[in-house]
Amino acid sequence: MAKALEISFPDVTCFPRSYWAMQGTPPHFPTFGGTRTLDVAIAGAGYLGLWTALLLKRQAPHLEIAVLEAQGIADGPSGRNGGLAEGFWGKLPLLESAFGTDEALTIALAGDECAATIRALSRNYPDTGIEDGPLGFVANHDWQCAAVASRFAAIERIADQGNAERAGPEKLSRLFPPGRFVDGILYPAAFSIQPAALVRALATEAAKAGVEIHERSAIVLARLGDGADIVLKGGAIRARHFVQATGAWTSHLPFFKNRLTNFSSHICLTEPIPGLLDVAWPGRKPFYDARPFINYLRVTKDQRVMAGSGSGSPSFRNRITVSDFRILPYGSGRGAPSMHSFPEARMSRSIHAGAGRSTSPVTGCRSWGPFPMAHTILEPASRGMVSFRPA
Ligand SMILES: Cc1cc2nc3c(=O)[nH]c(=O)nc-3n(C[C@H](O)[C@H](O)[C@H](O)COP(=O)(O)OP(=O)(O)OC[C@H]3O[C@@H](n4cnc5c(N)ncnc54)[C@H](O)[C@@H]3O)c2cc1C
Repeated sequence: MAKALEISFPDVTCFPRSYWAMQGTPPHFPTFGGTRTLDVAIAGAGYLGLWTALLLKRQAPHLEIAVLEAQGIADGPSGRNGGLAEGFWGKLPLLESAFGTDEALTIALAGDECAATIRALSRNYPDTGIEDGPLGFVANHDWQCAAVASRFAAIERIADQGNAERAGPEKLSRLFPPGRFVDGILYPAAFSIQPAALVRALATEAAKAGVEIHERSAIVLARLGDGADIVLKGGAIRARHFVQATGAWTSHLPFFKNRLTNFSSHICLTEPIPGLLDVAWPGRKPFYDARPFINYLRVTKDQRVMAGSGSGSPSFRNRITVSDFRILPYGSGRGAPSMHSFPEARMSRSIHAGAGRSTSPVTGCRSWGPFPMAHTILEPASRGMVSFRPA
C-alpha cells in the first residue's frame, strides 16, 4: 500500500466580495454535512476545480464528483480577477524555454481551443458579457519595443498560424488610447469576460451535469494514500481520487510551500466614464504594456475603466491575509503603474474592484521544475485550462 501523506489545510478567511461578484444573482449551493463516499473530491471551486469537475463528468458521466469550496462561489481569485482571457501566444518564448518548441506550440493551440470552449459555454450565460478582442501587447516608449519585437519574432519562428499580428501606431490608435503606443502585437482570439459570471456559469453547468457543489465547506485535512480520507468542518468524505485546486492556498501546504510562491494582484475600477472614453479611448479594446510586471487596462460593459496590476508583492511565508484584498484607488499604490497608460481617468472616482493572490503559474515561473507527485500540471486562469507534462 502506498505511504499516506497527510495535508492540513490553512484556514480560508472570507474577504470582501469583488465588484464582479456583487453583480447579478448568484446560484446557491448547500454546505457539506455528514459522511460520504465518492469517486472524486475536488478542493476549491475556482476555474481549475470547476473545469476539472465539468470535463471529468462529460468524459465519464458515471463518476460521483463533488467540488468543495471554503468560501462562496466566485469569492476566490477566479471571481475577482481582471477577466482578460489572453491565450498563450504571448507566452511562447517562456513556454519554449520551459517545455521545448513542439510542446510550446501544442499549448498555444490548446489555448485557442480553451478560448473556443469558454465562448461556447458563455453563449448560454449572457451575463458573462464576453467582449471580443483583439487584446494588445503594446509599447509606449522606444525602449519597450525590443520586448515587442522579440516576442513577435518567437511567434513567427514557432508558428505561422495568424494568431498574432504586429501593429504600428496608426492601427494601435484605432483600438487603444490614441497617440501613445508606437509598436504592438494584437492577439485576435483573446477577449475579456466578467470573471465572476464565468465562475457561476461553470458551477451551474457542472451542477446540471450532475456534479455536487458545496459552498462554505472548507477542507481541514486530507489523508492521501490508497484513495483519500477528507475531513471537513462539517463532515467527512472517502474518495477514490482527490484533486487539489486551491489556488494560492496551495502554496501554504507542506509539500508545495518551498516550490510555489504566491503574489498579490490588484484591480481597480473607475466610475462609468462613457463621454471620456468616446474621446480618449474610442476603440475600447483591452491591452497590457511591455513593462516587466504586467499592467493592463480594459473597459467594462458599463463603461468603466479597469486597471490591473500584477506587480504586487510576494507574501511572507506564503501567508494570505486580509491586506492582500484591500481597496486600491485608480492611480494610487499598486494601481499607479497602469494609470500611466490612461492618465485621463485619474480624476474619476474609483471603486473597489477586486484583489487577491494567485500562485505563479508554471508558465510564469520556471523555478517550479517537475513535480515528483504530479505528472500533469494545469494552467488555470481565465484562459481556460490546459494540461501538459513538464519537460
Ligand atoms: C486581482 C487579480 C487579477 C487577475 N487578473 C487575471 C486576468 O485578467 N486574466 C487571467 O487569466 N488571470 C488573472 N488572474 C489570475 C487568475 O485569477 C487565477 O490564476 C485563477 O483564478 C486561479 O484559478 P484557480 O481555480 O486555480 O484558483 P482560485 O480561483 O484561487 O480558487 C481556489 C479556491 O480554493 C478555495 N479553497 C482554498 N482552500 C480551501 C480549502 N481548504 N477547502 C476548500 N476550498 C478551499 C478558495 O476559497 C478558492 O475559491 C488575476 C488574479 C487576481 C487576484
